[in-house]
Amino acid sequence: MTLTEKDSQYLWHPYTQHKTSQTPIAISRGEGALLWDENNKEYIDAIASWWVNPFGHSNKIIADAIYKQLTTLEHVLFGGFTHEPAINVAEKLIEILPKNQQKIFFSDNGSTAVEVAIKVALQYFFNKGEKRTTIIAFENAFHGDTFAAMAASGISFYTQAFQGMFIDVVRIPVPIKGQEQESFDALRNVIQNHNCAGFIFEPLVQGAAGMVMYEPEALAKLIQICSQNKVLTIADEVMTGFGKTGKTFAMDYVSEVPDMICLSKALTGGTIPMAITTFTQEVFDAFYDDDINKALFHGHTFTANPTGCAAALASIDLLQTEEMQANIQRINASHLNFQKKIEKHSKVITARTLGVIFAVEIKSDSDESYYGSMRTKLYNFFIENGIVLRPVGNIVYILPPYIMTDEQLQKVYKTIEEAIEMV
Ligand SMILES: *Cc1c(COP(=O)(O)O)cnc(C)c1O
Repeated sequence: MTLTEKDSQYLWHPYTQHKTSQTPIAISRGEGALLWDENNKEYIDAIASWWVNPFGHSNKIIADAIYKQLTTLEHVLFGGFTHEPAINVAEKLIEILPKNQQKIFFSDNGSTAVEVAIKVALQYFFNKGEKRTTIIAFENAFHGDTFAAMAASGISFYTQAFQGMFIDVVRIPVPIKGQEQESFDALRNVIQNHNCAGFIFEPLVQGAAGMVMYEPEALAKLIQICSQNKVLTIADEVMTGFGKTGKTFAMDYVSEVPDMICLSKALTGGTIPMAITTFTQEVFDAFYDDDINKALFHGHTFTANPTGCAAALASIDLLQTEEMQANIQRINASHLNFQKKIEKHSKVITARTLGVIFAVEIKSDSDESYYGSMRTKLYNFFIENGIVLRPVGNIVYILPPYIMTDEQLQKVYKTIEEAIEMV
């Protein structure tokens, strides 16, 4: 049996209708921005394998750090014990995160980072004896697939089977250009009419919605409204963190600071699943008490896995090198050039860029759904041409590893131009 035959015998893939989907491609190795399948066909990974891999596949520096840690201390429980890699990650993050972030809580993936933040927002008020149980989130948000994260997510077919089983979430419009006031008014209205505990948002870019972007000034205003009403703010930087927007964190563009930040995806350079939720001292203090019931009773078996921590440390060091910062600026400049060229095309509705993130919306005769026919046609065209891109409906986006070469980038642009002609 081939790998793909064995796969269809044994495996269940994420976000996949197995009856109608094509068989998956078996990848046998990766290097830099490239992947090779079992027949040695080459692919450019133009979405950094779901936004996790900024420094390239099979990165030697991160691999060495992992190996060294594996042969020193691979894992130890984090309840009642601690270790240097976790302390080093915490110290490093507190140095580079927005200044008010003081406490670091480890978990395993983006969804759990969000789950922790939402539970902390709810328990924060419980501990203070205040009844606040509503969470505010954006329309079309994506925060993950565990229950509280799903509740906060607004992309309906991810969550439709579970309606009626969620915590209370009220949605407000995203303050995209021209709709800022609507968003501010909706937030004020929700806060007046509900007992709101927290507001969770993807800062500046809504990834899964199709790289929908909005301005830092608008987000600052929303955070201000929350602060005035003592509503806790949660910046979900799972996608935007670690350089994607051009700065280390999307929140670095925003004049206001959030109460909590969720991190995962690029945290370990795309090697080991790990996530972190960060908090202000003030949030932490609401759990600090002689009463054991006020503690945060949340944890995961692999919390603060030392090997993951070693990967995160190596990864953050790589991000901070001049070379990597120059790569981010190079890709941003290149995207802006491509945007200028493509946005005037008669079949393009709009194009946008922030940091290494680029997105283009293509005109379509029909209303394109998330996994609609245009999406399938585009996806297949890119795969045939050796490029990994996963369009969202009629939106094609690029989120390359920072080490992608100019030549590889040009090939991605050229294939997108051909795809626009084709559909
Ligand atoms: C991917 C993502 C998540 C969920 O992360 P997982 O690791 O897939 O659970 C949460 N929030 C945002 C903004 C994401 O992009």
